[in-house]
Amino acid sequence: MTIYNLGSINIDHVYRLASLPRSGETIHSRDLSHGLGGKGANQSVAAARAGARVVHLGAMGTADDWVLDRLAQAGVETDHIARLPHQVTGHAIILVETGGENSIILHGGANQSLPDETLVRHLTGIGPGDILLMQNETNLQPEAAAQARAAGATVIYSAAPFEIEALRVVLPHISILSVNEVEAAEAFAAFGEDLPVQGLLVTRGAAGAEYRDLSTGETFRQPAYPVEALDTTGAGDCFTGWFAAGLARGEDIPTALRHAAAAAAVQVTRHGAGDAMPDRAEVIAFLGSRD
Ligand code: ATP
Repeated sequence: MTIYNLGSINIDHVYRLASLPRSGETIHSRDLSHGLGGKGANQSVAAARAGARVVHLGAMGTADDWVLDRLAQAGVETDHIARLPHQVTGHAIILVETGGENSIILHGGANQSLPDETLVRHLTGIGPGDILLMQNETNLQPEAAAQARAAGATVIYSAAPFEIEALRVVLPHISILSVNEVEAAEAFAAFGEDLPVQGLLVTRGAAGAEYRDLSTGETFRQPAYPVEALDTTGAGDCFTGWFAAGLARGEDIPTALRHAAAAAAVQVTRHGAGDAMPDRAEVIAFLGSRD
């Protein structure tokens, strides 16, 4: 069972500052770090480290080879990532104030210019038992979702960043909708609680997560594991990636949820997003320490 991930690839530039700049102000940064980010790359790394076979479908500029190396080191198959000569790799300028407040500038770059042949050539192998992961940070979402669903695959969609129109277009093709609490409220306000999907995964930060099977009406609740959180960037991606990997590995819903919550608990104790995703051995050790 393969996870195909039509996903964004970003470089996160994290600047640490005494305070966020006001309009017209110039300030010094105390510290700068670069890391792997983008909801797509984060989810690919999480799912691969969870032990799934992950094929990433995405696009980057022609520089920044270290990003591909980082994905490959995590076990992600990167052969189908297009290198676009006239586009920059997507990136985020993240300003973090002492005390934790942040401001983020996101530039989609190549993530919004995936060539059509990405799907024509690389999604044709998808079939029943496979999973298509998607988030709202690339082009080609409706085309990919329709193609995967028609082939009998499970489509898991993270409606983030949340946009009603983007969700409306892909909703008929989604099997499982993955949202945080805020996105869930926006989706319910726009489409009602009775969403036309098989499953709804809602994460609520330190308050845990739940999966609603909308075909049976059953709800599975998963508390978060109490940890001292250092950086929660990418926690939702970690959870979704691990949950998808659990389904791809044939785990039942409670097991997939438990592993996803443990992985996200480990991830929030570390700085970074994609680079902070734990592997299966770390998650098993964490669960062992909590039993
Ligand atoms: P992000 O946008 O930063 O990726 P999100 O809003 O999509 O995050 P959250 O709902 O904040 O996602 O978190 C996802 C999961 O991560 C939670 O359901 C929980 O299991 C875990 N998690 C998040 N914050 C904490 C925390 N402080 N302590 C333990 N687990 C946490």
